[in-house]
Order: sequence, then structure tokens, then C-alpha cells
Amino acid sequence: MNKTVSVLGSTGSIGTQALEVCEKHGMRISALAAHSSVDMLEEQARKIKPHYVGIYNEEKYADMKQRLADTDIKVLCGMEGLCTIAALEESDIVLNSVVGMVGLLPTLTAIEAGKDIALANKETLVAGGALVTEAARRKGVMIYPVDSEHSAIFQCLQGNKREQLSKVILTASGGPFFNKTYEELKHVTKEQALHHPNWSMGNKITIDSATLMNKGLEFIEAKWLFDLEPEQIEIVVHRQSVVHSAVEYNDYSIIAQLGVPDMKIPIQYALLYPERMSCPTGRLSLTDYGKLTFEKPDYETFKCLSSAIEAIKRGGAYPCLVNSANEEAVRAFLNDRIPFIEIGEIVSSVLDKLENIPINSYDDVVKADNAAREYVRNIVSRG
Ligand code: MG
Repeated sequence: MNKTVSVLGSTGSIGTQALEVCEKHGMRISALAAHSSVDMLEEQARKIKPHYVGIYNEEKYADMKQRLADTDIKVLCGMEGLCTIAALEESDIVLNSVVGMVGLLPTLTAIEAGKDIALANKETLVAGGALVTEAARRKGVMIYPVDSEHSAIFQCLQGNKREQLSKVILTASGGPFFNKTYEELKHVTKEQALHHPNWSMGNKITIDSATLMNKGLEFIEAKWLFDLEPEQIEIVVHRQSVVHSAVEYNDYSIIAQLGVPDMKIPIQYALLYPERMSCPTGRLSLTDYGKLTFEKPDYETFKCLSSAIEAIKRGGAYPCLVNSANEEAVRAFLNDRIPFIEIGEIVSSVLDKLENIPINSYDDVVKADNAAREYVRNIVSRG
């Protein structure tokens, strides 16, 4: 493959697996960027020898620069560094796998520079869906989904007519607390919440999987990626995480994509599209599973899920508001400031307590983001 890639979020779970995929297929990596993991970033930089390395946390800049002083690698920092890397002349595609709202501006910058995006940053589409999809259309760039569900939908669309699609079926593992009651959820610990049955992921997304916020964010993402009405998206709990999602067409044929639960498959499809080559993962054996199950989600217990769906139905700033409130609430939970159950309470309260505003620019997104974070910080500090 002769595509050149920039990897934002290279030290995270998706980032490290992406580097493995790139290495296997001999893809050139022109830049790496991470939030603050200087040790791992240095190690990656010495091995891969990109032209640029970005460190988001400005306090780590001097250290990072010092560590790579004996190389020709240019070290950049902060949001400006991420955006410079997102727009690099020499890159064909930007893999954006940073965590959280931080990912939005680099995505918009990459699109304006005409780069295709392999998108693993959910918040890009959740908070800025209208802005991002409009910009991508205007610039004629592709957004290749990296999330396993959206990659599955994207794969199921190949060779068919988009206008003949009737709905998509977004599968959900259900997370570690599937079938638990609201009462039972009051007593879950951080350790339980951080243990996902099928997927190995970063902390933020693992908590989002336990609250089902992750599926709510994916619902919103699917709406923007595939230009769907909320009524065209059905969420189905599928505990085995083998059917990664499916598409129903007008003739009621349902086409699904299956595979082992390993992110390297969707990462590779996004980077190598439309090629399908051997992937550094295992084969799926259906007979090893034997049984695949499908159930309805519990929207009442998992308030994050119902709130995210309500947010996209209302539109405007609400998707951004619930997302930013969730980021703050998850941070508070991981810092032992609030119990697990409180995440859903806080996220759902946003729909009653915060006002909608139209989102016409990146600045509008930032305003909504700040409002939601301040709202949550006040709740958390009151105890
Ligand atoms: Mg997913």
C-alpha cells in the first residue's frame, strides 16, 4: 500500500493497533501524536521514524523535544500541533483516534486540507456532526469509519444502493452490566465498570460501554455518517460481539458483517479501503460460538442510551451537551467523585436543565461544550 498516514492518538488502544496494521502492510507513517504518554511516544517515534511527532499536553513538550533531540523528527505540541499534523502535505489519510472533544478541531482541519479521514474519534461526529459532514461533502473527502459497528454498516453498503437502504441494525454487546437492575447498578465498583466482557479498550470508552453511552454516541455517529433518520436506526443487544452491525434493504434482506471482536479488522478496512488483505488477527469460527443471541436494550435502566437518542432527535447543541456532560461525569467517576449510577442521572438531566442553541460553527460547539462541563462540575463539586 502506498498511502501515507498520520496517526493522531498513536499511544491509545486504536492507535497502537493501527501502527501494527500499517507495519504489516508497509504503509508509510509521516506523523504520530499522543496526549501525554511520552515514554510510549518516544519508543514509537524511534521505531517508525516519522517526520513529525505531536504531544498534546504542553507541559510535556520540553521533555518530548529533549527525548528526540538526537533525531531529525520535528516535535510539535498542543492543539496547534495536532492540527498541523492533521493537515500535513505529505499525508493522504489521517487516522483520528484521540479521545474526546479534543478530536473535533483536528478532524475539521484535516478535512479543510483535503485529507481523507479514518475516524475513531466519536466526539467528532457527535458534537460536530453537521459541521463535519457538510465540510467533508464540500471538500470531497471520505470519512472511513473505524468504529466496528460503523465499519460493519459501511461494509454492508458496498455494492448496494444507499437509497434502497431501509434501516440499520446497530449491535451492542450490552456491556458488563447487561440485565442488571437500576438498584443493582447503584453498587457497582470502578473495577467492575472497567472490565468489559468482549473488547479491550481505553478507560473512557470502557465506562461508556458499561453505561451504554457508547451505543448512544454510536447511534448519533451512525445518523451523521450514513445520513439516517433516528427512526431508521435499531439497537439490538448481541452479547457475543460477532455480528458487528447490519443493514436492512427495501426488500427486507438484511446484510450483516461478522468477525472476531478485534478492532484491527475495522482499522485495516478504513486504512486499506477498498482492499481486503490478510489481517493480523484471528479467524472467526462460527461453530466455536455455536449460538448467537439478539435482545432489546433496557432504555429505562441505561439512561445514557435513551438520553443520547433523545438528544439527536432534538438536534442543535443537545448531542454535544450530553456528550460533554458525559465526558465530565465519567472523569468524575474515574476520580472517585461520583458513583457509577450518577453518570446516567447527570447526562439525562442535561436535557431538562440546559438550553438548546443552534450549531453553526466550531465556536458554537465550544460554547455548548463549556456550558455542559460547567454544569457537571457544579453538580460534582456540590457532592
Ligand atoms: Mg463500537
